[in-house]
Amino acid sequence: MTYKVSSENYMFSFSKDIKPVLCVKSGDRVEIETMDCFANQIMTNEDKLETLDWNRVNPATGPIYVEGAQPADALKVTIEKIQIGNRGVVATGKDLGVLGHLMEGLYSRVLDIKDGEVIFNEDISFPINTMIGVIGVAPKEGSINCGTPGSHGGNMDTKLITEGSVLYLPVFVEGALFGLGDLHAAMGDGEIGVSGVEVAGSVTVKLEVVKNMSIANPIVKTSDITATIASAPTLEEAVTTATQDMANLLKQHTSMSVEEIATLMSAVGNLQFSQVVDPEKTVRFAMPNRILERYNIL
Ligand code: CA
Ligand code: ZN
Repeated sequence: MTYKVSSENYMFSFSKDIKPVLCVKSGDRVEIETMDCFANQIMTNEDKLETLDWNRVNPATGPIYVEGAQPADALKVTIEKIQIGNRGVVATGKDLGVLGHLMEGLYSRVLDIKDGEVIFNEDISFPINTMIGVIGVAPKEGSINCGTPGSHGGNMDTKLITEGSVLYLPVFVEGALFGLGDLHAAMGDGEIGVSGVEVAGSVTVKLEVVKNMSIANPIVKTSDITATIASAPTLEEAVTTATQDMANLLKQHTSMSVEEIATLMSAVGNLQFSQVVDPEKTVRFAMPNRILERYNIL
């Protein structure tokens, strides 16, 4: 079955207390329409960040209840298609992002997206590199706003989460309560200025329950690599968790010693920044699929 959910079904947090907008079976597809991270409040260069309603930022579309999903399962999300609009917004400003101390006030600009390119200024355009910033499930307890990443996913701003990728999310509550939003026409690792090229659009995903696949944090698989994703208040903590999660994955599926695992990961694995600007920082540890597939991992 293929369903459609419009961006009018938005939420500003992931929580088990939010009523699902759709109920699907494992294996169903959903085309999910999303607003951009400013809830489409910046449409022209005259719309300023200063007058933005900050209670309406980072909407995600959802939640979607997936039948049969139980705590200690994983939700496998296959990202089949991402379509984006023809207008993107970039933003930064004082105290925002890594260079925020160099700026005064807030800055935003609307960019045209044409023929697969983002027109940045009169001199430069660059190819789109679409990705999903916010994607996740409800946490075990309470509610986590869509601007914050965590074990439940959320605002991971990880550019590997793109068309063709498969994302595994831990399930914490019955039905998983999945949602996504915050599409980027392009974003670099780190998202150093605090935004990507923020854009509205739609994403077609296939949602499947993987029974008894107990993972602590999200894992993403592209055509080449598989990465454990971790978010924490500091980069150091996120580095340790992402690295340990990958080591655990290898430990569960192989007979290698921790020394063998550490030397293998040190030789062929890559620690990568996802984003360094959100309330929690996100990093990932990437291993070549060629190595993991040898042990039938994912
Ligand atoms: Ca984001
Ligand atoms: Zn964004």
